[in-house]
Amino acid sequence: MKLTVLGSGTCGSQMPGIENRKPPAFVVQSESQTIMFDCSEAVRFRLEEAGFNYVDINHVCISHAHPDHYAFVHFLQSIGCINSWLGPHNERIDVYAPRHITENFDALWALYVPDDPQRKNRIWPALHFHPMSNPDKQVLQIGEHRLKSFSVYHGHGRVDACSFRLEAQGKVFVYSGDTGECTGIRESALGADLFLCEASARVHDVENPHTYGHLTPRLAGDIALKAGVKRMVFFHYTGLNSDEEMIEDCRKSGYEGELTIAKDFDVLSF
Ligand SMILES: [Zn+2]
Ligand SMILES: [Zn+2]
Repeated sequence: MKLTVLGSGTCGSQMPGIENRKPPAFVVQSESQTIMFDCSEAVRFRLEEAGFNYVDINHVCISHAHPDHYAFVHFLQSIGCINSWLGPHNERIDVYAPRHITENFDALWALYVPDDPQRKNRIWPALHFHPMSNPDKQVLQIGEHRLKSFSVYHGHGRVDACSFRLEAQGKVFVYSGDTGECTGIRESALGADLFLCEASARVHDVENPHTYGHLTPRLAGDIALKAGVKRMVFFHYTGLNSDEEMIEDCRKSGYEGELTIAKDFDVLSF
């Protein structure tokens, strides 16, 4: 399995320490599948830069609707242009997302594309939406891969957000999305070979995981420790703490597994 980091940062740019860190987007590849996790603004440019042909993306998992994770209309328009100008290149995309997204996408689309609100033009790939929340813990197959979702706590508990767990080729990949402290993130991380975990609350902001809903490095470490995670990679990097401060804070949890902080265009095998 291979993880390519397309966006290790947040919604903010021009902040000290987060130069060249775009908002969250990742690609996980196995021998048979290519799956994108979160679809942030201008992701197609980063796909191109990382060597992907963006029209080849047929599976997109979206953690929640916050704009730093969800710019799917724009991505779809780019694919529509290729289908229109070069002929059919991508005729189907499966979208795995919280129900808040799957049930409201058509309204969002109509807002952006009032000339074709029902996507009747054949340039648009057929969209197959898979609600991954309400009820919690949806399980789906993508080929021989098992994708499971867990509802997580975020945005004062008012955001329909989920983490994803992908089991493939004997490996477990877990993507936290944005989350604070909750049972969902702890269950999703169990036994992960690679836990791609947000750590965007500041080291001293110990209330945040229980109020707004982001993790401190130390709490992420606690989750990883208790879940038996082999390797943890932090993303949603704010630059408000140094790498050294984040790692030191995480190690206070007692987590001793491999720990790195993602940078854009990192490629990790697991
Ligand atoms: Zn968010
Ligand atoms: Zn976010």
